[in-house]
This record gives sequence, structure tokens and C-alpha cells, in this order.
Amino acid sequence: MTEPFYDSPTPVQAGLKCCCPRCGEGKLFQGFLKLAPRCDRCGLDYGFADPADGPAFFVMSGVGIVVTAVFAWVEVMYQPPIWVHLVTTFPALILGCLATLRPVKAWLVAAQYINKAEEGRFESLGRHDYDPRRL
Ligand SMILES: [Zn+2]
Repeated sequence: MTEPFYDSPTPVQAGLKCCCPRCGEGKLFQGFLKLAPRCDRCGLDYGFADPADGPAFFVMSGVGIVVTAVFAWVEVMYQPPIWVHLVTTFPALILGCLATLRPVKAWLVAAQYINKAEEGRFESLGRHDYDPRRL
């Protein structure tokens, strides 16, 4: 029996669409950030997916750098009162993080699937003095 052919999306495409990294059609998320147990189209088990804190790190770093740069530029150029920053900078940080967290998580899950990333394992060769040349 042969595996069906899937026209898999690239990790970036899967991230932008928040879809299954194998078939590109099924839903990846069950809620806002919770992964579904499996693809509703091709049945891919998402048990392999564990991006951990990676999406939060990339999103906080990327959005934080951009928003802080804009904040600093506005402060240097216009010296607005602090309330202007409170009503612009903080919402920009929060909305920027919320808007990008889901696609970044989907992108990292797709990258894990395509690169077959998983935890490292030690495999025993059976004996400590194993040498295949002696067999
Ligand atoms: Zn799928």
C-alpha cells in the first residue's frame, strides 16, 4: 500500500495559513493557540509538535524591537507627553504580539514536521566495546 501524495506547503505558507504542514488544508489549531490533536483532513497526528517557548520568544523579540524602535524615534523627534506612549506603544505591543503569535507557532510546527525535528535520543549499541569491523 502506498502513501497518498500530499502537495505540502512550505513552512512559511503553512504558518501564514495556520494549516496542516502535510496536506495544507486541515486546521492546525483547536483554539487560539492550542493545537488540534490531528489534522481533520489527512489525519496527521500533531503529537510530534512541541514548539515550546519558541513562538513567544520570536514574537516578543521581533515585535519588541520594532515597537521600541518606533517609540524611541517618536520620543526623539516629537517629545510627546507620556500618555501618548501609553495609548500607542502598549496597545501596539499587545496587538502586535497577539497578531503574530499564531502564525509564528504554525510556522515552527511546520518546520518541525518538514525537518523531522524531535528530541535527541541515545541508542544503545548493545555493548560498550561494539565495533562493526569485528563482526
Ligand atoms: Zn493534513
